[in-house]
Amino acid sequence: MANAEIIAVGSELLTADKIDTNSLWLTDQLNSLGVEVRRKLVVGDDRRLLAESIRQALRDADIVILTGGLGPTEDDVTREATSEALGRNLVFRQDLLDALIERFQRLNRNMAENNRRQTFLIEGAEPLPNDRGTAAGQWIDADGKVILLLPGPPNELKAMFSGQCVPKLRAKLPTQVIRTRFYRVAGMGESDLDQLISPVYKPYENPVTTILAGAGDIQIHLRAHGETEPEAEALLAAVGSPIEELLGDRIYSRDGANLETVIGGLLRARGASLSVAESCSGGLLGGRITSVPGSSDYYLGGFLVYSDAMKTQLLGVDPALLQKHTSVSEEAAKAMATSARDRTGSTYALSVTGEAGPRSQSGVPVGTVIIGFAGPAGAPEAATYRLFGDRNGVRARAAQWALDYLRRKLQASRSF
Ligand code: AMP
Ligand code: MG
Repeated sequence: MANAEIIAVGSELLTADKIDTNSLWLTDQLNSLGVEVRRKLVVGDDRRLLAESIRQALRDADIVILTGGLGPTEDDVTREATSEALGRNLVFRQDLLDALIERFQRLNRNMAENNRRQTFLIEGAEPLPNDRGTAAGQWIDADGKVILLLPGPPNELKAMFSGQCVPKLRAKLPTQVIRTRFYRVAGMGESDLDQLISPVYKPYENPVTTILAGAGDIQIHLRAHGETEPEAEALLAAVGSPIEELLGDRIYSRDGANLETVIGGLLRARGASLSVAESCSGGLLGGRITSVPGSSDYYLGGFLVYSDAMKTQLLGVDPALLQKHTSVSEEAAKAMATSARDRTGSTYALSVTGEAGPRSQSGVPVGTVIIGFAGPAGAPEAATYRLFGDRNGVRARAAQWALDYLRRKLQASRSF
């Protein structure tokens, strides 16, 4: 399988203000062509360093893509550095000059002398016309490798790559079929997950497995390539199926949908409604639920009851219960969920209470979070978790754990 290296050029990309987004977009495009990106670099406007980086990339990669540094000014050195790295001259091209002159005339502007720098091509390169800017791109074949020089401005780069480079690369690369699987997992940490599934995916270079972890939310991407669809599917199944078996119901979506969307679908399918009572999550739970379009079909509302007084005034939680068990207790969580359900008339209610830190107010350890649940039948329930993170990490995980609690409840008992 072909592999690529991307070099993003520009000193501005080494400041704290500007990030290299081109390589992310290019990586996605290359992956769709069955090309793996093995390394990417950001190099400032330094000709010597850039030439050295290009030489090294050519040792390791089949395809080397440079973005940026094709501007008219002296600080843009991609052409010169590539010429140096390949040991090929820069040659003047009258057709590029004619195109530039025509462009400036059309825009009714004077062409600066500097722009002439943009009319030089690496010897043997094929120009890639740019109808959105002055910098022509270059396609260079060298010893069986391909080097692409592309402009830095994202709109110019994208049009040039999609319109001109993708068809040429496709014709050059062996036919590749790409098949992907995508799992989202809740309710476990990244290292626990990796310990469980790495014996399955580690032996395989194809499919490529990538794992992305957020606060209590893990995404697993599998990307298999093969010469035919059945071959790619078989490789995908060889890794994907054992992973599905190991993770079981911890996988909450296979199509990229987030947890709040999955829950919305489950509630809607049951014609059920939901309310919440939040203490330490302070609105994060309701915020996530209502981020889903159409959530007003099933979400009735929530109570933000941070203080004990509010738990009593707004929800009607018995002050004696709070006195006896404290607000960070399973008893309090159950009472909050029950009251939210009864006061709103919802089918289900969730509650969240806990200690987000940095100091414990109630005596229980920081990171302790209790999720309460009240359904249409049976006694309310509560579960206590010790969650990881700083204050906002704990709060974000509390909302995640609450949503996942509800998902499991809804999926476990399809009847009520
Ligand atoms: P250049 O081709 O080096 O003259 O770059 C022109 C402009 O494109 C820069 O000022 C940036 O705003 C933008 N640009 C260059 N490289 C990147 C990159 N890797 N990601 C996003 N924007 C970029
Ligand atoms: Mg630049």
